[in-house]
Amino acid sequence: MKRFLIFLYLLLPGLFFLAPAPSLAKVNVFACEPEWASLAQEIGGDKVEVFAATSAMQDPHYIRARPSLISKARRADLLLCSGASLEIGWLPILLQKASSDIQPGSVGYLMAADVVTMLEVPVVVDRSMGDVHPEGNPHVHLNPHNLMTVGEALADRLSGIDSENTSFYKHSHRDFSSRMRKAISRWESEAAALKGKPVVVHHKSFTYLIDWLGMKQVGTLEPKPGIPPTTSHLKSLLLELRTAPADVIIRTPSDPDDASEWLSGKTGTRAIVLPYTVGSDKQSSDLFALFDRIIALLGGSRNFRQ
Ligand SMILES: [Zn+2]
Repeated sequence: MKRFLIFLYLLLPGLFFLAPAPSLAKVNVFACEPEWASLAQEIGGDKVEVFAATSAMQDPHYIRARPSLISKARRADLLLCSGASLEIGWLPILLQKASSDIQPGSVGYLMAADVVTMLEVPVVVDRSMGDVHPEGNPHVHLNPHNLMTVGEALADRLSGIDSENTSFYKHSHRDFSSRMRKAISRWESEAAALKGKPVVVHHKSFTYLIDWLGMKQVGTLEPKPGIPPTTSHLKSLLLELRTAPADVIIRTPSDPDDASEWLSGKTGTRAIVLPYTVGSDKQSSDLFALFDRIIALLGGSRNFRQ
């Protein structure tokens, strides 16, 4: 018996290593843009490994499908992007080399534009004029309500991929939504005075923000999304603004500054750079700070000049 106990004693550590261990593998999330990487981190916590394919200083319409992106996409369990053709120039190339797990129609393929209400959807799709928004405006993350909607879809997809942690993802989404609802009500009250204010934008990057806050998009510096400003377009916009002035001219950090500075010089309307996503500036360190910063810069909060 004693010999048997010694035998068991020697065997037990081995048995411990043979016993099935709880799954420690993280879900690899490939996020096309920083806002979705941030959302994936909010919902997935320590159960996910998140990779952002683009930085805040890049224009997600125009990215090169580098070999490093292809190799990240190959390892991904879940793809989270804006969709609606925002990534049309590079994502299809990555998907050609990626596994069936993240192909369109699979649980690991989530496009934000497929789960939110799209704005500026054209009646007829026409790419011939160079419009980079042929399926509607893809910059959906700048309405925080959309972040909650995409967050819910994301929690479902993560549960589908990693069912052991379903309750974790559900709880994360509930917690995120509750913090977001509180923040939204604060932002809406801070931005109440912005309602109805006319805005000119460089590219239609802020359509969802403008719609959410009840501001009015009265002009764009690009004659069509993706077509650089032309002299004739700017001159006709200037004429319109002389009759009906705008309150502010907005561009993202990746938009060129010449057209908005020119128009600002001619009209006296202030031209500002608004952070477009998480990491666009030092202050916009997460999704909540991003909207804090945007509303402060628009003049919605009392301490916006600080
Ligand atoms: Zn765009």
